[in-house]
Amino acid sequence: MRAGKARLKTLTSAALGLALILGSEAASHAQGPTASPRTAANSPVHETAQAPAPLMKRAAELVGALKEYRASLDELLTLQQKDLDAATEQRERWRDLFARELVSKRELEERETTVTVGQGKVEETRRNIMVADHAIAEAAAAGTLASLSPLVPGGYQRTAFLIRFNGQAAWSLRSGTVKLQQFFAARFARPLPISAFGQTPLHDRMGFDHHDALDVAVHPDSLEGRALMDYLRGAGIPFIASWGAVPGSTSGAHIHVGQPSPRIAARH
Ligand SMILES: [Zn+2]
Repeated sequence: MRAGKARLKTLTSAALGLALILGSEAASHAQGPTASPRTAANSPVHETAQAPAPLMKRAAELVGALKEYRASLDELLTLQQKDLDAATEQRERWRDLFARELVSKRELEERETTVTVGQGKVEETRRNIMVADHAIAEAAAAGTLASLSPLVPGGYQRTAFLIRFNGQAAWSLRSGTVKLQQFFAARFARPLPISAFGQTPLHDRMGFDHHDALDVAVHPDSLEGRALMDYLRGAGIPFIASWGAVPGSTSGAHIHVGQPSPRIAARH
């Protein structure tokens, strides 16, 4: 139990540490021999030739670093889940002991608090995993976008990896989001599932300009996703829909509302 706790602590700092180096030159460090998919192998070799090449290389580095970060979150979640299971089991025992007046109410309450805290940690890590998955999809999309010609105003394009729409309406994150929320709630009787609103610390570390954009956790092929894209096209609001960057998994699928993140290459 104690060893597990120490490991949990190390892993938490590892995940945070990796998050901190994202967006710095050290991001390429994560592309070491242990990095699973060699995404960088797909980037062009001649970096100095054209503008898109460094952008694609940078995108590939980010995808690699984010995948490492995501893997550490997965491991963290497993440990936190184990801790939560143990805490839940203990709480059940203490409930029984309390019923037989063998422990005090305060002792039982301490066990209940441990369970609540454990649930909070698991929930937070699950959320961080979703945010990381969306970030992986956006970093991969930035690489794809670098290889595509710019869309004409009002242009719409569907590729194997993404759907993009270059809407021309004036978009404001705050007022635009309120309208989106109203549309979504009226149509689907649930709140708009926003996974990132404006700039987040992870976007900062990635060097992504996400100030004027929001991410919605809906699959582009779902009823909700299609309805949302129809609404955005009708309103002239730009968006990029991604299916996610992990083959065989749709966990990163989402719709990015607002202009893409053009500042990804700013650091190179
Ligand atoms: Zn986004």
